[in-house]
Amino acid sequence: EGLDRSARTYVAGHRGLVGGAVFRHLQSDGFTDVVGRTSKELDLRDRAAVDAFFDEQRPAYVVLAAAKVGGILANDTYPADFLSDNVRIQVNVLDAAARTGVQKVLFLGSSCIYPKFAPQPIREDSLLTGVLEPTNDAYAIAKIAGVLQVQALRRQHGLPYVSAMPTNLYGPGDNFDLKGSHVLPALIRKVHEAKLRGDREYVVWGTGTPRREFLHVEDLARATVALLERYDDPAPINVGVGEDVTIRELAETVADVVGFDGEIVFDTSKPDGTPRKLLDVSRIHALGWKAEIALRDGIASTYQWFLEHHADAR
Ligand code: GDP
Repeated sequence: EGLDRSARTYVAGHRGLVGGAVFRHLQSDGFTDVVGRTSKELDLRDRAAVDAFFDEQRPAYVVLAAAKVGGILANDTYPADFLSDNVRIQVNVLDAAARTGVQKVLFLGSSCIYPKFAPQPIREDSLLTGVLEPTNDAYAIAKIAGVLQVQALRRQHGLPYVSAMPTNLYGPGDNFDLKGSHVLPALIRKVHEAKLRGDREYVVWGTGTPRREFLHVEDLARATVALLERYDDPAPINVGVGEDVTIRELAETVADVVGFDGEIVFDTSKPDGTPRKLLDVSRIHALGWKAEIALRDGIASTYQWFLEHHADAR
């Protein structure tokens, strides 16, 4: 099915890592009426404001990339905020979309919705088959509620809305704040600062043995258009690379890219989180999309972005 590239497309969360990349990609891919609102202009947790926005703008398509997100420590420290903010954002946007006749919604979740001990690589049908990783269970439950709401809107109202579950994402525009960020931007910042200070070592949380998969947001942005165009199924679809690395390997690659030859020290008082979350990507490969940006190249360009935006990096 073709998309009408002149129809209004709303990217919720267009100032974030994911929404920003999606917004830029839609524009460069020929979408001529892409709209976004900052969280100051439109607080998506505010139902009346969201309703008024949809009544006024009447988008044809919506990419729901707005969420309260963070790394392992932020999720573990503020579970009430992660649950409440994300449930409210999703319920408000999805309800307003259905009520105002939005033709297609792509809801973006996260690979942390899958059970902690799901068989690897994780298939879409392992959703709700086991207990969650406790460091991010509040966020995961919120995202699972979003997946269920999309399925319920399909069932009750026949709407062709879909959900996608990306693996760990990184890229330009990421959050480099050490307390709130995910591992990849945190390591870029830590190595960079260790190098500037002339330190002999830098500290990595946990044991270094957990395995993670990292997808560049520009690859994800390409996937969102493919999914809006060609995916129409109640099951969430995984978006990943199909390969993972240990945190130790990631730490070594970052050190290499930044040009730091000190030692890596592991702070095992910090949590490891889930041991592994590698996504099975056969379904999205069958749709004709696959990741193209190699991890090392993606780290190098993200480091370049960090250097250029260092002053205003979040
Ligand atoms: P997760 O994928 O939900 O666990 O989120 P993160 O990206 O925050 O963490 C991934 C892994 O990297 C975990 O095992 C962390 O303990 C580890 N890690 C190592 N150093 C850091 C760091 O400086 N910041 C973060 N956020 N994680 C780190």
